[in-house]
Amino acid sequence: RKQGKAPCITRSPEAGPRRLRGRDRLLKKMAKILLVEDNLQNKILVHEILVMNGLEIIEAKNGVDAVKAAASGAPPDIVLMDIQLPEMDGVTAMRIIKSQERTKHVPVLALTASAMKGDEEKLLGYGFDGYLAKPIDIKKLIEKITESVYAVKGPAKTL
Ligand code: MN
Repeated sequence: RKQGKAPCITRSPEAGPRRLRGRDRLLKKMAKILLVEDNLQNKILVHEILVMNGLEIIEAKNGVDAVKAAASGAPPDIVLMDIQLPEMDGVTAMRIIKSQERTKHVPVLALTASAMKGDEEKLLGYGFDGYLAKPIDIKKLIEKITESVYAVKGPAKTL
């Protein structure tokens, strides 16, 4: 893969000794994640989880950078998008990413602190493919990523 011009690129090291099987193994091989988050603590937490699962990560700290990152290099397999962001909010950034021919198929999951009833429907109505409330549940995060990657790429043939 060519070096992208995306801001703040972080490449995850190869996964550690944990043995990955089935869906997990395929996930490791396939998924490049664009993580859009301005809160340092949340970013570090999600980054850790993704690295532990052997996923490749690109980071953006605002909506403008997110749009640029999604447009440069190979499209990400999934976008994790915070809603409240400086420069441009997550809903606007998601809509722009979804409006581009080369990234319109990329699932975008909302990461938001607001876990109030009705929010999920609202976010899905805006066009998000899924929703994760903060604080992030590690198991749910990995499940959502796996589901989304599979929804786009189809089931694994090597299970
Ligand atoms: Mn935020």
